[in-house]
Amino acid sequence: MQNFRTYGFIILIFFLLIAPLSTIAQSVIVNTDSLKVRSGPGLTYEVIGSVKSGDSLEVLATENDWYQIAFNGQNGWVASWLTTGSTEAVANQSAVVQVKTLNVRADASTSSSKLGQLAEGTSIQVNSIKGDWLEITFNGSTGWIHKEYVQLIEGGSAAPEQIEQNAFSVQVDALNVRDKPSLDSKRTATVYRNEVFSVLSTESTWVEIELNDGSSGWVYSFYGTFQAQQTQASQAANASSDTTLTILYNGTNLRSQPSTSGEVRARLDAGQQLTVLQAVDDWYEVSHQGESLFVANWVVTTGELEEEQPEAEQQEVVSRKAGTLAGLTIVLDPGHGGNDSGTSGYYGTNEKDLTLPTAELLAAKLEAAGAEVAFTRESDVYVGLRKRVSISHQNSADAFVSIHYDSVSDSSVHGFTTYYQHGFQKPLADHLHSALQKRLSLRDRGVREGNYLVLRENQQYAVLLELGYLSNASEERTVANAQFRETAAHAIYEGLISFFDSQLDE
Ligand SMILES: [Zn+2]
Repeated sequence: MQNFRTYGFIILIFFLLIAPLSTIAQSVIVNTDSLKVRSGPGLTYEVIGSVKSGDSLEVLATENDWYQIAFNGQNGWVASWLTTGSTEAVANQSAVVQVKTLNVRADASTSSSKLGQLAEGTSIQVNSIKGDWLEITFNGSTGWIHKEYVQLIEGGSAAPEQIEQNAFSVQVDALNVRDKPSLDSKRTATVYRNEVFSVLSTESTWVEIELNDGSSGWVYSFYGTFQAQQTQASQAANASSDTTLTILYNGTNLRSQPSTSGEVRARLDAGQQLTVLQAVDDWYEVSHQGESLFVANWVVTTGELEEEQPEAEQQEVVSRKAGTLAGLTIVLDPGHGGNDSGTSGYYGTNEKDLTLPTAELLAAKLEAAGAEVAFTRESDVYVGLRKRVSISHQNSADAFVSIHYDSVSDSSVHGFTTYYQHGFQKPLADHLHSALQKRLSLRDRGVREGNYLVLRENQQYAVLLELGYLSNASEERTVANAQFRETAAHAIYEGLISFFDSQLDE
C-alpha cells in the first residue's frame, strides 16, 4: 500500500482515458466476504488477489459470467455471480409491467433468487440499467426486473399512471402469516390464493399485511404479487361482510349434503378457511372451488385459532429460496479415473483428465449457492461404477450428475447428449439439457434414455452428461479448453437451479 498514491493516480488516468470510450460504465459491488481476483475469466485461472465485501469495482469488460476489473495496476477477472448492483445512471425513467406477473430478482440474472413479483400495470421507478435488466427498489431493497417485460416511460415518477403498490395478492394455495418477519416466529393465521390485503410495511423479503379482522401479520413476499389498493378495497369489503370458518383437523371432509352420509367431495387440512354461506342444523354450507358443500360444525371454528397448527409441509416449501441450493446434496461423478482413462481424443486428450476439473468447477458454483457437494472421486483414482452409485445412495443425493466426454469411431460425429434411465430422472435431464443448450455452442444431440449402470442402479435423480466428442478433432480442441469447462459447469449449475426451483413451484 506504500504505492497507494501512485497507484490511485494511475487508475485515475486510466479511467479518464477509457471512460469516454465506454458506453456502459458499469460498477458492481462485491457480494461475498472475500472475492478472488483471477488472471483470466474462469475458476481455473491463477488467483492474483482478492477484494472485500462491499468494495465497488469498475467493470472494464465482460466475458460470459466474468467481469474484467482493474486490479493493482493490472487487469483481473472476478465472478459476476458474486457481485451485485450496477450504476448505469438513468434519467428519470419508470417501467410499467406488461405481463400478468413479473418476477423481481435479487440480481440481474434469471438464475438469481426471486424476491417477489409485480402485477401487470404496475409502474415503478428505474434506478439503473445493467444489460437487459433494470434495477428497482423493491420492499426497501434492491431488486431486478427484465427489460423485455416492461415498457419504459420517461419522467416516471411524475407519470399519471403511477400506481402505488400498496396491496398484496396471495399467489399460493395457502400462506402462513407470522407475527414477525421471520420463519422462526409464531404463525398467527393463514391466508389463501387470490386474497388481497393492504400492505402496512415491508422488511427485506417480508411484507406486513392487514388482515380482515383488523390485526396484522407478516408473510413471505415471494408468494404473492403487489398491486394497486383499489382491488384490495373492493375485495376486503366483500370478505369482511362474510363469516369465515377455520378447519380444525387435517383431512376434514366437505360433503355434498349436510349429513355424514353425504358424498365426500373434498378434504381440507387444519388451518384452511372457508366462507360460510349459511348454517344448516349442525352443518355449515360453504363455498369451495365454486361448489356449495357442507362441513360439520364440530370440526371447525368460526372464532380465532389459539393453538399453532401443523405446518410441516409449508415449512418445507419456504425453507429454501428459489435460486439457491441450501439444504440440497448434490453428488458429482467425474467419469473414469486411474487406470481407466475413458476415451482419448485425436490429439491425445484423456477423458478422465477433463471430467474431474469440470466437476470441480461445478462444485464451487453449487457450494456458493448453498449446496452440499460430494464427489465419487476427487483425484485421479479408479472408482468402480457400483461404488459410485452407492455414494449417491449414502448421501441421499438430491441430484447425481455424472460427467463424461464422448467418443465414437465415426470422427465426424459431434455434439453433446444428456442421458437418463428411469422416467423419474427425466425432468432433471430436461432441465440440465436445456441449460446446456442455451450456453454451449456444440450441436444439440438431445435428451436420451441410456442404460448406464450409474443411472440404472441409482434410486436418486441421476443423469449422465456427455459434453462433446473427443473423437472429433475440432470438438476435442473446443472441449479441452478451460473456457469451455467454465461455460459447461455454469450451464449445469443453472440447470440444477432451474430443476430445484421447478420443484418449489409445485
Ligand atoms: Zn465416459
